[in-house]
Amino acid sequence: MSMAPIRVAIVGLGKIARDQHLGAIEATDGIELVAVASRHAKLDQIACFHEIGDLLASDVKFDAVSLCTPPVGRFEQAKAALDAGKHVMLEKPPGATLSEVYALEKLAKAKGVSLFSTWHSRAAAAVEPARGLLAKRKIRSVAVEWKEDVRHWHPGQAWIWEPGGLGVFDPGINALSIVTRIMPESFHLTRSELTFPANRAAPIAASLSFETDGGIPVSAEFDWRQTGPQTWDIRVETDEGPIVLTHGGSRLFVDGESVIVEEDREYRNLYRDFVTLVTEGRSDTDFSPLVHVADAFMLGRRIQTDEFED
Ligand code: NAP
Repeated sequence: MSMAPIRVAIVGLGKIARDQHLGAIEATDGIELVAVASRHAKLDQIACFHEIGDLLASDVKFDAVSLCTPPVGRFEQAKAALDAGKHVMLEKPPGATLSEVYALEKLAKAKGVSLFSTWHSRAAAAVEPARGLLAKRKIRSVAVEWKEDVRHWHPGQAWIWEPGGLGVFDPGINALSIVTRIMPESFHLTRSELTFPANRAAPIAASLSFETDGGIPVSAEFDWRQTGPQTWDIRVETDEGPIVLTHGGSRLFVDGESVIVEEDREYRNLYRDFVTLVTEGRSDTDFSPLVHVADAFMLGRRIQTDEFED
């Protein structure tokens, strides 16, 4: 007997909700959109509310909430949903601080509901195959280059430059979500250099070094000033040749040969996984990419650069 679809509400109908979540929910079996809570946006033929409190106080029946708001403020929304016994799916990064995401993990457990801390880049096609290959090879080094044009990808998004908005770590955490998944051993930060525009509270570039438990060097260069072709690459040197993920993890090159090129299915994979988690009564709360970002701020040597204008 098939189960009734999970009735989900989207909170924060902004860029990512419109670009990805709506279509992915539509394309996924076992889940349906029944409501939206957003202060400045509405959808036709769906129950719409100003914010999550109004939704929770309404008589709309729903099982889960997908939070597509910025990280600062998401804790209160997630807590309200969990307190009300709803399953919760969090956009990346899962929150603005580590202590709040661990509090949510604890609350979800106490309430017996599913919490899914999503990392959309982990759901890209090359990630699991790369993980499988790296489990069998001797790794020599890892180099991440994540360089994009902030003016193109985040036009007018004020929150991303505020404390808690993470600046260049907003995309950079995607790279860290892949590296933490594909590497067979964990790693820790050894050096961090953060470049802040004189008029902004979040970095526009970051240069990081890590070392794995076994001493393998991992480097990461994040930069938001790249115009022209964009770079979202992870290169792993191994004893048998390089394993390279490009285009954010949707393409894989093994020893120089292209072996995977896939269209973007990340968010459809995320919603499929959310349905599985809810159905099986489980949570997925790996916060390790956020731990590395917090470390980068703690250890970061700050460099000031020119003012940034949108
Ligand atoms: P966005 O376009 O600014 O949308 C976020 C929405 O949340 C806003 O439209 C706003 O809708 C609502 N909101 C609630 N409180 C807010 C506040 N204090 N400040 C601003 N908006 C607030 O942002 P986004 O790009 O969709 O990003 C949302 C999350 O998705 C972030 O965590 C981001 O890292 C993640 N994400 C984004 C992308 C991307 O390509 N943009 C890709 C993957 C993941 P109302 O005003 O109607 O309430």
